[in-house]
Amino acid sequence: MAWDFETDPEFQKKLDWIEDFMREEVEPLSHLGLAVYSSEGRQKFIKPLQQQVKDQGLWACHLGPELGGQGFGQLKLGLMNEKLGRNGLAPTIFGCQAPDSGNAEIIAHYGTEKQKEQYLWPLLNGDIRSAFSMSEPTGGSDPLTFQTRAVLDGNEWVINGEKWFSTNAKYAKVLVLYAITDPDAKDPYRRTSIFLVPTDTPGVEIVRNVAVGAGGEIGGGNEAYVRYNNVRLPYDALLGDRGAAFVIAQVRLGGGRVHHAMRTVGACRHALDLMCRRAVSRTTREGRLADLQMVQEQIADSWIAVESFRLLVLRTAWLIDKHKDYQKVRKDIAAIKVAMPKVYHDVATKAAHLHGALGVSNEMPFMHMVNSSLVMGIADGPTEVHKVTLAKQILKDYQPDNDLFPSYHIPKLREEAQKRFAKELGEIREHYAARRQAEKA
Ligand SMILES: Cc1cc2nc3c(=O)[nH]c(=O)nc-3n(C[C@H](O)[C@H](O)[C@H](O)COP(=O)(O)OP(=O)(O)OC[C@H]3O[C@@H](n4cnc5c(N)ncnc54)[C@H](O)[C@@H]3O)c2cc1C
Repeated sequence: MAWDFETDPEFQKKLDWIEDFMREEVEPLSHLGLAVYSSEGRQKFIKPLQQQVKDQGLWACHLGPELGGQGFGQLKLGLMNEKLGRNGLAPTIFGCQAPDSGNAEIIAHYGTEKQKEQYLWPLLNGDIRSAFSMSEPTGGSDPLTFQTRAVLDGNEWVINGEKWFSTNAKYAKVLVLYAITDPDAKDPYRRTSIFLVPTDTPGVEIVRNVAVGAGGEIGGGNEAYVRYNNVRLPYDALLGDRGAAFVIAQVRLGGGRVHHAMRTVGACRHALDLMCRRAVSRTTREGRLADLQMVQEQIADSWIAVESFRLLVLRTAWLIDKHKDYQKVRKDIAAIKVAMPKVYHDVATKAAHLHGALGVSNEMPFMHMVNSSLVMGIADGPTEVHKVTLAKQILKDYQPDNDLFPSYHIPKLREEAQKRFAKELGEIREHYAARRQAEKA
């Protein structure tokens, strides 16, 4: 009997340390805004905190020990990430910031020694940053529509194409690029390869940067529109095998989606926490907001939604630890990817609403949360695509009924049951017939 919802005491100590560290160190720092992210700010504020995390053995916990991580597994990581998820700065402090975390993971899995030397160790140390350059401006949901091409010229690749929303490309030392190398391969999923492209390679052009959300300057933001103009790379700029981009992507995207969901649990719990704090603090003529039934309904619904989502995420993490194969947990990962934006959006909207005008202002975190929930329904693939994956995975275990009426049609089931229990039913009938006779006599 192994259904256990308790954290073992040793790991709880680590979670308690993270809780205190988040409250005392990370959260105050996150209120300093952009100053923290400048190169001076990173040295002054971020590096010392990263060192504390390393000293605690909590750095880059999504990776195994051979790669400088702790090899905690996904369930422990899930419990950790819940705490990190309530603050946007925390993943940087703990060495698990997307897209670097996912990029490091695939370089670790598929990189040559030279590639690891060049990119993996500096990424893990937080010395360089990277970008993931897969989506294209013509459409990101269906990777089979991508057009960026890499053509061999002697022993060099020549790459041409455009990529869209390559997050952090402007800070990146290396771009993890998807390009078609084998357009004639029979299997369409074997046509694309991954390249590691140094950002300063001639021909790499950031056309413009795009920001998420309303406001801000056009051209600002972290989402790069990148053009690759006759970019020449040596043959060994390939990451992994030629034609293996989709296989490699599953490693990256599978893990990334789960880690986002884990952090979103933390963000949702944070929104609910603030909602409850407001409900017991703000009063109307009828008393506290918390005493109004409609507010109580919102709090109850939010709690149920967030805790159900949390259990689904932790169960998915547990399944990944069990199977050690993202393919086997595809259904569950798709499910949490679909649930994530909805639960987050609902609870963040309710929390904003309960705070009234203050809630929709830039003096509270809720509008940012609502924005993030919308992003989560798009980044790493839109909700609709994941619903299709989920439904297909569920349906593959079902066989068709070939009769006009299905096998679970009640008259049919009744007939089968009557046949099966004919003897017992006969005995019961005889029993009552005999009783009626006796009563008549
Ligand atoms: C903040 C953010 C960061 C990102 N970072 C990166 C990054 O670092 N690297 C990277 O490569 N990409 C990144 N992306 C891009 C992301 O992966 C794509 O936006 C996503 O795959 C959707 O592609 P699209 O935007 O072109 O939308 P489209 O493919 O045009 O889809 C638009 C809408 O059409 C509908 N739709 C599409 N397909 C289907 C379908 N099969 N069934 C039903 N409805 C459908 C959905 O409603 C969907 O939202 C990022 C996106 C965001 C928002």
